[in-house]
Amino acid sequence: MNIDLHCHSTASDGLLKPRDLVARAAANGVEVLALTDHDDVSGLAEARAEAESKGIRFVDGVEISVTWERTTIHIVGLQIDPEDPVLRSGLEAVREGRARRAKKIGDALEAAGIPGSLAGAKRYAENPNLISRSHFARHLAESGRAPDVKSVFQRYLVKDKPGFVEHRWASLADAVSWIRASGGIAVVAHPGRYKFPKPELHAFLAEFRDCGGAGIEVVTGSHSPEQYLEFARVAREFGLRASRGSDYHGKGESKADLGALPQLPDDLSPVWREW
Ligand code: AMP
Ligand code: MN
Ligand code: MN
Ligand code: MN
Repeated sequence: MNIDLHCHSTASDGLLKPRDLVARAAANGVEVLALTDHDDVSGLAEARAEAESKGIRFVDGVEISVTWERTTIHIVGLQIDPEDPVLRSGLEAVREGRARRAKKIGDALEAAGIPGSLAGAKRYAENPNLISRSHFARHLAESGRAPDVKSVFQRYLVKDKPGFVEHRWASLADAVSWIRASGGIAVVAHPGRYKFPKPELHAFLAEFRDCGGAGIEVVTGSHSPEQYLEFARVAREFGLRASRGSDYHGKGESKADLGALPQLPDDLSPVWREW
């Protein structure tokens, strides 16, 4: 089965509208697709309708921004209920924090001699309630501050750079509990990105499991083939379900296209086993 359980639309920082994203997934041969926008579920209804018309199975998802011990971690929720009031109010609080951070990023860039970037970022954000660093990056790249989005991040938007702003996202326990309250399963997104030394990774996963987390991405666009094997071992060791997702954002901004990743190692228990 071709299953892709992680991608983004214009409801967050993806480049394609939900319906165009689903159409692309279907054209690529995806049979089960989850849309997992950052901290927002407003793209799910349109995506589901398009999936139904294309005859592919659709899974409601979200990717929640979390701060754990000063590190930003992403937790994907799958098979959530986007109408659930607990989940909705949690996500709304995260988006309010995002809006405050966006203002601070704009101020920080202005102090570094780059005015107008918040207004610029907003022009790239189709969802006015969801301003991401990606929107700042697209604006700064387009206005010639760096040759491409990736270099804008490296020059301006990551730690110790002029447009980086420390931010406290949701707590791990809250994010997992919102996902579970809405009937979903909580999955650690792209664990290889956090660069945790082994003891921290173990402490994090132990806490994640204690909070009710159940899955981990093993095959993702953010991992190298060596990391597929490394996190397959971690999934076995911690008894976590394994997930697979491209984390597709759009042409030129993603390593993996929709549905284009290898299969999970077959001895792992996939998150979709009982679906
Ligand atoms: P935010 O949640 O607003 O802090 O933005 C995080 C998003 O920025 C991620 O989901 C990626 O889509 C994108 N991103 C983060 N780091 C980089 C990077 N180094 N290069 C390109 N995109 C990045
Ligand atoms: Mn993103
Ligand atoms: Mn992520
Ligand atoms: Mn993502």
